[in-house]
Amino acid sequence: MDISVVIPLYNEEESLPELAAWIERVMDANGFTYEILFIDDGSTDRSMDVIHTLAERNENIHAVSFSRNYGKSPALNVGFRRAKGDVVITMDADLQDSPDEIPELYRMITEDGYDLVSGWKKKRYDPLSKTIPTKLFNATARKVSGIHNLHDFNCGLKAYRKAVVKHIEVYGDMHRYIPYLAKNAGYRKIGEKAVHHQARKYGHTKFGLDRFINGYLDLGTLWFQSKFGVKPMHIFGLLGSLMFLIGFVAVTVVLILKIISMNSDSYYFYVTNSVYFYLSLAAMIMGLQFFLAGFIGELITRNSPERNNYLISEEF
Ligand code: UDP
Ligand code: MG
Repeated sequence: MDISVVIPLYNEEESLPELAAWIERVMDANGFTYEILFIDDGSTDRSMDVIHTLAERNENIHAVSFSRNYGKSPALNVGFRRAKGDVVITMDADLQDSPDEIPELYRMITEDGYDLVSGWKKKRYDPLSKTIPTKLFNATARKVSGIHNLHDFNCGLKAYRKAVVKHIEVYGDMHRYIPYLAKNAGYRKIGEKAVHHQARKYGHTKFGLDRFINGYLDLGTLWFQSKFGVKPMHIFGLLGSLMFLIGFVAVTVVLILKIISMNSDSYYFYVTNSVYFYLSLAAMIMGLQFFLAGFIGELITRNSPERNNYLISEEF
C-alpha cells in the first residue's frame, strides 16, 4: 500500500463527506493504493454515522472510534499504530488542509528521501489571536529542538516514512512536537513544504488559548527528556551538589560567627540570629531533595523500556 491518510476528528460531521471525496479524487488521479483512517476522538455529533455511510461506498475507508474525547495526540497514536501504507500522511478533518498536497508530499518521502515532511501554512487563514502567539511558539520550538529549518511545527498536514510513525510514541498533547519526537528517535532528515491553507469552513476550532501554556510546558518536558531522559542524575546531582556547596559555605560562616561570639551578650551568640543559618538549612534540604529526585529518576530509568533504544542506520 502506498499511502495511509490518518485523520483525527472531533465533531466534524459537516466536513467529512467533502474531505473523503477530495482525497479519493486525488488518490485515483495519481493511481495510489491507499487507506483513509478516520480516528474519531469521541465525537458527540453524527460524525460516525457519516463515516459509516462513506465506508459503505469506499472499501479503503476505515475508522476507529474512541468512547470519549481523549485528544488529538491519542487519536494520532492509534492511527499511527494501525497505518499500513509506506507513507503515512496526517491531515486535519476540518478541510483547512488540502489533499492536493498529497502527491508532492509522497514524492518528497519516496524520492527525496525525507523521513518526515511537515506542512508550512505560509499564508494562514486563522484569527490574529492565533497566528501571533504561534510565531513566538515556533521560534521557541526551533531554538529548543535544534530543528532550525521548520517554520510550523504544529501543522496538521505532515508526511512520514512508515518506520517513523512506528518508532515514535505520540501521547498527551505532544502532537505539537512530532518533529522533535522524530529527531530524538534518531530521524534527522526532516523537511518542510509550504502548503495551501484555508479558513475553517464548518464548525469551530477545538483548541482554546490554553494551547500556548500547555505547549510551552510540553516543550520543557521534551527538552528535559532529550537531555537527561536516561541520565537524570546528571542534572539533579549537579543541582544537589551546588546546593550542598552553598550550604557548606553558609555553615562555615555560621560556625566562625559563633566562635568569635562566645559571650552571650553578643549578637551571633545565638546562631538563629544569623541569616547564614537559614541559608544553610534551606540549601542543605534542597540539596538532599535534588539528590533524592536524581536517585528516583535513575531507578525509573533503569526500568524504562526506552533506556536501550537506539536507531541503527547501518551495520556490517
Ligand atoms: N481534534 C481531535 N481531538 C480533539 C481536538 C481536535 O481529534 O480533542 C481534531 C479536530 O477535529 C481536527 C484537528 O484535530 O481534525 C485539528 O483541530 P482544530 O481544527 O480544532 O485545530 P486548529 O486548526 O484550530 O488548530
Ligand atoms: Mg483546524
